[in-house]
Order: sequence, then C-alpha cells, then structure tokens
Amino acid sequence: MTGTSLIVGGAGFLGSHLSEKLLDNGHEVICVDNLGSGRLENIDALQSHPQYRLIEADIREEPELPPADEVYHLASRASPKDFTEFPVRIALTNTQGTRYLLEYAVEHDARLLYASTSEVYGDPEVHPQPESYNGNVNIRGPRGCYDEAKRFGETLTVAYRDRYEVDVRTARIFNTYGPRMRMDDGRVVPNFVTQALQGQDLTVYGDGSQTRSFCYVADLVDGLQELMETDGLGGEVVNLGRPEEATILQLAELTQEICDTDSEITHEPLPQDDPSRRKPDISRAIDLLDWEPEITLRDGLRRTIDSFDERLGDA
Ligand code: UDP
Repeated sequence: MTGTSLIVGGAGFLGSHLSEKLLDNGHEVICVDNLGSGRLENIDALQSHPQYRLIEADIREEPELPPADEVYHLASRASPKDFTEFPVRIALTNTQGTRYLLEYAVEHDARLLYASTSEVYGDPEVHPQPESYNGNVNIRGPRGCYDEAKRFGETLTVAYRDRYEVDVRTARIFNTYGPRMRMDDGRVVPNFVTQALQGQDLTVYGDGSQTRSFCYVADLVDGLQELMETDGLGGEVVNLGRPEEATILQLAELTQEICDTDSEITHEPLPQDDPSRRKPDISRAIDLLDWEPEITLRDGLRRTIDSFDERLGDA
C-alpha cells in the first residue's frame, strides 16, 4: 500500500524513523508537528525529498489538514521526565488531539493508527502483559497524565470505530530506543549512553532490579507499518515490543561494557509509581502481523551509542 501518509508527531523520535521508511517505500509523507519535543534536526535529511513536507501545527488547536489515505497519530511526549513539566499538554494531546484526528479520519475516510503505550498497564500485576490485561494505573499519580490519557484515547478509538466505522488500529508501544532520541529526554537509554560517553556516573534509580524490555526503533517502525497496512484489523489493539526482559542494572552494565568507559554506577531514588516489571506478550503481533523484532539489545545499543557519539562530537 502506498499513497499519502500523514504522520502526526513526524519530527519526533519514532515519527522521523517511520517517515524515512515510508518515503523509501514510495509513500508521500506529510509531517505534522508542533516541534515541542520533535526536532527539525531529526528531519533535516527528509526536507529536500520531493514527496515530503512539514506542516508546523498542534493538533490540540484543530488545524486544517490536507487529505491523506492514512494517519499515524504519534504525537505526544513520552518521557516520564516530561510528565512533570507538561502534564496538561500531554493529557490533552492524547484525548482532545485524538478526538480531532478521529474526526479527520471520518471526514477523509482515512485509516488511523493510534500510538498507545505499555503504560496503559501501569505497574502490572500480570506478567508478561497480554492485550487482554486491563492494567494497574494510578490515575492521580505522576504518570497519570500520560497513562490515563492514553487509556481514554483508546476508549475514543473504540467509540469511533463502533459509531462511525473508523478503520482505526492501536499499537501499545513498549520501551523503544535508538538514534535521534533527545539527549536530555530523561529516559534510561539516552541518560545511560550520554553519561557513559561523557565519563559521568550512570544514574540507576532504586536498586536497578526493575525490568524493562527494550526494542530497537527500526524493528518498532516495521511493526507500525505492518499494523497500518494489514487489511481487516479495524478496531484491533496490538502490543509492539521486544519480549526480552532486562533489569536496569543489566542495562547499565551493558552500556558500560560497550562504551568501554570508566564511568561508575551510582544509585538515585526510585521515582514514585515506577513499574517494577514490564514485558510484552507479542503473540497477537506474531499472529496478526507476522512481525517479531530482530535486533538484539547489544546490537541496537551499539548502534545507538555510535550515533550519540557522533552527535556529541558535532555539538
Ligand atoms: N531509570 C534509571 N536511570 C535513569 C533513567 C531511568 O534507572 O537515568 C529507570 C527508571 O526508574 C525506570 C527505567 O529506568 O525504572 C525506565 O525508565 P524510562 O524513563 O526510560 O521509561 P519508563 O519505562 O519508566 O517509562
């Protein structure tokens, strides 16, 4: 399937990698981004492509948007550090912004992919997490603005599917990392990599026994494209992530090893509501999309370190 793809949040980490891939596959790409956490630097190489254009706009303000065949809704800050600084924007981008894009999909008869998150599972009591698990979210906690807004965003997708037959698919995206993450994004991979490359201590929050399952960005955007382009999935929700679990301490040690750094590990307090374990059950993605991540944590981390090293050298 080619045609015109509208990528909302297209200048962000995931959006820029996805745009590159869709252009390579012959799509026309319209990037919509308010350049809040998205960066022009991410799309520098794309701006001269004849099939690419950028519209600087914020979906919360309901901008007039050109017609497209498909819409990827990737707009939202996703780092816990940002939840403290931008809670209202994050809550509204995922609710009001989602409603606006669902209306757009009705008007233009477009297919929509909504980027939800593993955060809808909160601090999970079921492990690994299948899509059928309803989660354990603290709606009033520091992550509530993101977690609960994503949950309500999902509810809206179901309502628009039922009421207006919108062809909408939802991806629950687990921890993803790779080149183009903001260095000061605050999430664990950019923090550890930047710290190790600069000879600073790696800041492990808590004792580091909490786990995450890390997926390299190239694998993740393959999954997004499969989810968008597989027919007959209207209304479906699918976990996308790499089901190999690592403790945060193991991640710190692997980063130290690959960077061959003198940086030590220091411990800082564990933030409130930090999930203790997270690992996707991706049986549905395998069944429905024939998709599974291929890049190991060691390989992906090496590529990320190389690219951060280059950026630090350019800075
Ligand atoms: N973390 C850490 N040191 C850091 C940043 C994060 O130990 O400098 C931990 C954090 O407490 C969490 C895990 O790494 O347990 C993943 O955090 P991140 O912010 O990347 O994403 P989350 O999965 O929590 O949304």
